Amino acid sequence: MTQIPTFTLARTGDQIPALAMGSGTKHRIKKKAETDNPKETATEELTQLLTDAITYAGFTHLDTAETYTTEVEVGEAIKRSKVDRSKVWITSKYDSGWRVEYPASTPSGPYEALTKSLKKMDLEYLDLYLIHSPFFHPDISYITVEEAWRQMEKLVEDGKTKNIGVSNFNTEMLEKILKVAKIKPQVDQIEFHLYLQNQSPGVVQFCQKNDILVEAYSPLTPILPHRITNGGPVDELVEKLIKKYGVTKNQLILRWVYQSGVLPVTTSSNKDRLKEALGMFDFTIDKEDFTELTELGATFHYRGFFNKYFEEG
Ligand code: NDP
Repeated sequence: MTQIPTFTLARTGDQIPALAMGSGTKHRIKKKAETDNPKETATEELTQLLTDAITYAGFTHLDTAETYTTEVEVGEAIKRSKVDRSKVWITSKYDSGWRVEYPASTPSGPYEALTKSLKKMDLEYLDLYLIHSPFFHPDISYITVEEAWRQMEKLVEDGKTKNIGVSNFNTEMLEKILKVAKIKPQVDQIEFHLYLQNQSPGVVQFCQKNDILVEAYSPLTPILPHRITNGGPVDELVEKLIKKYGVTKNQLILRWVYQSGVLPVTTSSNKDRLKEALGMFDFTIDKEDFTELTELGATFHYRGFFNKYFEEG
């Protein structure tokens, strides 16, 4: 099996596997349609898929969240795969609330939320816990971001998670945390791909300057016809490069993310496609090709998540 490289987290020196299998988006939607009590009930299909991701495809990093309702399957898959807990990196996220119709699931904050999640997953600790969104407002989050961060730090102190970070945070929200942090955020998980190289102004550069690892969700966007419906400016170059390197589109696009110093979080409902993704570590995109991809990608804009927050204010 492909040896998966790692990124080093600055505070702890922990080695985080450089590709994650996500269990949100399509898995969350499917589960919601099929299951009455999704937060507590593990579905067989997703449990087996996550198990295959580990034992068949070779993934060592699973991404879940309170709001995905897939924490139970992640816990089950760890058991079923019989892999040593320390060999799989597990990330989950605190649901801090999205808007008035979707307030925080656990009003008291991340401490109680992760305590519940660990029980659900039957795990003693997480490798990484993130605050899922930056929309802190008394009506949806009940607590301030500063209070949430104090609770995140307590989770580290109490051994419930090894690392903490955030998701979808812009520089302003990151600065708010950095001002009060005893333990700095280690990760910002954001939408990142060729057609969205900064989710918010300067966020990637800010993170890289402050030793915060950027994780990319929706990394495959540029090659997904259901997202980029009329094609995009990198299409021709992608066709040329996959022939040159003898790789698939998925591998090329994920590799571009990785060579940008960013950790891709991808997903599939197909175990062979998951296995294929790991082939991204078996080649390198030349400097000139990398630059051409980056520059062409930057001529087009696509955002799949949080348009209202980032673009309409
Ligand atoms: P991707 O960009 O990796 O897209 C995955 C989707 O692409 C799947 O539906 C898959 O379908 C499809 N796909 C893959 N390859 C191809 C292909 N060659 N042709 C056609 N379709 C293809 O990631 P997602 O946007 O799904 O996000 C990944 C993860 O990131 C989520 O599961 C979640 O864990 C996390 N996330 C985090 C967010 C946050 O706010 N922090 C927000 C959104 C996601 P198929 O099943 O058929 O392979």
